[in-house]
Amino acid sequence: MKHNQVLLQVELSIEPNALKKVDFCAPQSYQGTGFLSISDLPRVAEEASTIIPGDGFDWSVKTHFEDSPGSEPHQILDLGLKGRLHLVCQRCLQGCAIDLDEKCRFVLVLADVEADAYPIEDEKQEPLVVNQHFNLLETIEDEVLLSLPLIPKHPDGFCEPHTSTFGDEEGEVAANEHENPFNILKNMKKN
Ligand SMILES: [Zn+2]
Repeated sequence: MKHNQVLLQVELSIEPNALKKVDFCAPQSYQGTGFLSISDLPRVAEEASTIIPGDGFDWSVKTHFEDSPGSEPHQILDLGLKGRLHLVCQRCLQGCAIDLDEKCRFVLVLADVEADAYPIEDEKQEPLVVNQHFNLLETIEDEVLLSLPLIPKHPDGFCEPHTSTFGDEEGEVAANEHENPFNILKNMKKN
């Protein structure tokens, strides 16, 4: 590619399915924004405690070529994700809203060898092996999964630890006793 070549800039479709096949070998750059609901991201949906209308992520993608001395220009992809989903709070075991606001940058490479050769110490941009029909939707989904907190929790003070009736000597406590205030008192005394 010549430096003076004017690159075509292609607008990415907002259609989730169109993101499954993006040609990153073409001498063109991309940009686009859209919204992905949780149902567009099956692996994320598996993690969700519940799906409330509006849950999902605004995404933005922009690629450009960066000169690199002695080799072909590097293709850079900037990905932004902003949105919300619901996960199980590990303190109270109820659903809690998790907001994500992530930005990441990838250097697009065409072969695994190139990715292997890429300096690991560069944490600001990761190599991403792409091809002519690259599944960008999968990359977006990977990035959402990587951004999720390891131990999702409500903010401190917002909820009480879930107390289980299982595993103690009264393991047979029936579910319908759950709301019996005497049981609550009994548990308080025990603690
Ligand atoms: Zn909680």
